[in-house]
Amino acid sequence: MDKICNFCGNKNFNSKQIQYIYKHNNRFLIVNDVPCEECEYCGEKYFKSHTLKKIEEDFLSVYSGSKKSREMITVPVEEFAALTL
Ligand SMILES: [Zn+2]
Repeated sequence: MDKICNFCGNKNFNSKQIQYIYKHNNRFLIVNDVPCEECEYCGEKYFKSHTLKKIEEDFLSVYSGSKKSREMITVPVEEFAALTL
């Protein structure tokens, strides 16, 4: 891949698969094993535009009800000001 990191200028990237959390209007979609290129130096992750497009389209399908997601999880939610530790 012939590019440089926008953040640190490094030219070396590792191909990885990561868990991507898509968030829109306080709704979430978690997609596992999403391919990306990770900057070897600062760890910034880069995704192909068609990869992000696919995730966005899946999000719309799931939330419009035209598709059932593979799995549903319950996620705990906190307010920082209410944390006691
Ligand atoms: Zn970098």
